[in-house]
This record gives sequence, C-alpha cells and structure tokens, in this order.
Amino acid sequence: MSVISARDALDLLQKGNRRFTSEISSRDGFSSRLRRIETASGQRPFAAILGCSDSRVPVEIVFDQGLGDLFVIRVAGNIVAPSQIGIVEFAAEQYGTRLVVVLGHTQCGAIGATLEQLQRPKENQSHNLHSIVDLIRPSVEGLLATNLRHDLTALAREAVRANIRASVRNLRRGSAIIQQLIQQAELMVVGAEYSLETGAVDFFDGLPKKGS
Ligand SMILES: [Zn+2]
Repeated sequence: MSVISARDALDLLQKGNRRFTSEISSRDGFSSRLRRIETASGQRPFAAILGCSDSRVPVEIVFDQGLGDLFVIRVAGNIVAPSQIGIVEFAAEQYGTRLVVVLGHTQCGAIGATLEQLQRPKENQSHNLHSIVDLIRPSVEGLLATNLRHDLTALAREAVRANIRASVRNLRRGSAIIQQLIQQAELMVVGAEYSLETGAVDFFDGLPKKGS
C-alpha cells in the first residue's frame, strides 16, 4: 500500500465529511467483511485524528471512513499530553501517516468546564478533572481579559478555536521527531472544528495556501 500525501488525505476527509452532511454515507462498504479481512493483516491509516471524547463527535462517522482508515485518539477537550504526542509519532513512523488533524467541536464541555473554573473557581474539584482543565487553561484564559467576557456565547466559541490552535501548536513542537517530519514535509498538522449543529467540519488552522 502506498503512502497517501497530506493533501490527498485532507481531500479524503473533506469529501467524507460532505458525504456525512449530505447523508450519503458509504459506511456499509467501509465496515464490510471484505474490508475487515483486507485490513486484518496490516493497516495504513491515511490520517491521525486527535478528537474530543464527546459522544456526539465519533470521528469515523463524521468523516465517513471505515476500518483501517483513521488512527484516532480521543480525549476530553482534544488536549495534548505526552502520551498523545507519542501516539502521533508512532502513527507517522510506523504507518507512514502524513496528516494529523486536531478536531475540536462547538459546545465542548471540557472548554465550558475550564471557562467555568476560571470564572468561578471550585475548591473541591477532582484532581484528575483538574489536570484536563489545567491543560486547556493557558489557551483560553487570555480571552477573559478581552471584551468577550461580556458575551458568554462568543467567549465559548472563541475558546474552542483557541484551544484547537493551542493543541496544533503543542503537537507541532511536541517532539524532535514530529518537528523533523514537518521540516521534511512528511507530516502536516492542521486544526479543524466540527459543528454539532450542522455536522460540517471547518479546517481553519494550518492549511497550506492554495497553489503553494
Ligand atoms: Zn468536547
């Protein structure tokens, strides 16, 4: 199986998401017995996705992909911790995956909890939950110093995007291996937002300029 370039991978995801929003999913073929047998002996996922654990954003469904297509990491708030960096390194090195997408979404509960904690800190929050909030906090707390603090809906919307951009940045700088792959144009890391309302994915961060 040949390596799929980052641009082709992006194209496959965008087309898949359009199939999902137009309700013409091809998932029957993607999860067929034949596909299962084909992929049992090896995988070549064409993209790695760091998404949120939210039950409304199942990655394979929103991109209309099947067995063997996507290497998926899901964690509340699509945050980047060392284990996520290691998984991305693994996908790139082991399977030749060229595209990494940080996929956040509108109305993310982890972002909401972080904003809540910043505005009205709770003393007795669980230590483990706190570790998620701590990773999201640096990317969103600056927004509370802007006029957005008077408009909670706009604040939440901007915070989701700021957190996606931060995760993209953290992944890119996360390890020498990833930095080297990016420099050699063997890996592309982009940020995207899924809309719970429309089902559409907007790739808004880190896309190559058209024609370059
Ligand atoms: Zn979420």
